[in-house]
Amino acid sequence: GRLVEGLTKTRDNIVSGIDSIFSGFSNIDDDFYEELEEILIMGDLGVHATEQILDTLRQKVKEQHIKEPHECKELLIESIKEQMQVEETAYRFENERSVVLVIGVNGVGKTTTVGKLAGKLKSQGKKVVIAGADTFRAAAGDQLKEWANRSGVDMIGGTEGADPGSVVYDATAAAKARNADVLIVDTAGRLHNKKNLMNELGKINRILEKEYPDVYRETLVVLDATTGQNALVQAKEFSEVAEITGIVLTKMDGTAKGGIAVAIQSELSVPVKYIGVGETIDDLQKFDPDEFVNALFD
Ligand code: GDP
Repeated sequence: GRLVEGLTKTRDNIVSGIDSIFSGFSNIDDDFYEELEEILIMGDLGVHATEQILDTLRQKVKEQHIKEPHECKELLIESIKEQMQVEETAYRFENERSVVLVIGVNGVGKTTTVGKLAGKLKSQGKKVVIAGADTFRAAAGDQLKEWANRSGVDMIGGTEGADPGSVVYDATAAAKARNADVLIVDTAGRLHNKKNLMNELGKINRILEKEYPDVYRETLVVLDATTGQNALVQAKEFSEVAEITGIVLTKMDGTAKGGIAVAIQSELSVPVKYIGVGETIDDLQKFDPDEFVNALFD
C-alpha cells in the first residue's frame, strides 16, 4: 500500500545493504556484526538504537544457536521492533476533550500538519478549533487560515507579533463557546532561543490550566524526516523544554532517511504518532512501528 510506496527510498537504503550481508557472509562473526552496524547507522537508526539492536540480536543468535547469517534476518526484524517499543502510545485526543499543542521549527511542515490533523479530526465528526499562536511569522497565520478553510474548521488567530498567550486565551473562549472536542494550538518553535520558547510554552500551559481545566493535553513535536540526524537533535532539544507526548515525522515520502523513526522512538521513548507522506490533507498517517519495520523488510 501507500506506506510501503512512500518508504521506497528508506527501504532501498537499509534493506539492500542488509540483504547483501545476509547473503554475502557465511558466518555470523565480528565482521558480520560490524558491517550490519554500519548499515544501520548509515540508515539513520542512530548510534544508540543500533547498539541496542545489535546487543539484542547477538543474544537471540546465541540463545537460539543460529549459525547461518540468512537465518538471523527475522531476529533482526524482531530486535528493531523491540527497540521501538514505548509505553504510552494512545491517541487520547481522539476520545476525550483535548488540547493538542503543536511545536516545531520553521519549515518542518508544522502548519501543514496542523491543517491535516484538523481535517482528519473534523472528518471523524469532531468539532475542532485551531489557535494560530505562532504569531512570530506573518505568513504563518495566513497559511493556517487557508488550511482551516479547507478543512472547514474555525481558526482563532492574532496579528503578527501578537502575544501568543492572548491568542490562546481567545481560542479557549471560542472552544468553550463552541463546545469544541479538540483545540489545536499552533505554537512557535524557536529552538535557538530556548529560554523564550520555554517561557512562551509555560505561559500557554498556564493559560490552558486556568481557562480550560480538566482537558487532556497532548504535545506533538513536528520533525522533518529528510533532515535525518538533525531531526533527532531537535527532538532531544524540544524534550528539554516541553513534555512531549508524541512526534510527527513529516516528508517521509521520498526520503531515504526514514530510519530516523527508529532512532527517535528508541532514544526519547516517545512514540512517533503520525508520519507525513505528502502535501495534501489526506497525507497524514498514523504510525505503527511494527507495520513500519515490516514495510522496510518487505
Ligand atoms: P512550517 O514552516 O513548519 O509551518 O512548514 P509548512 O507547513 O509551511 O511546510 C513546509 C513545506 O513542506 C511546504 O511546502 C509543505 O507543503 C511541505 N510539506 C509538509 N509536510 C510534508 C510531507 O509530509 N511531505 C511532503 N512531501 N511535503 C510536506
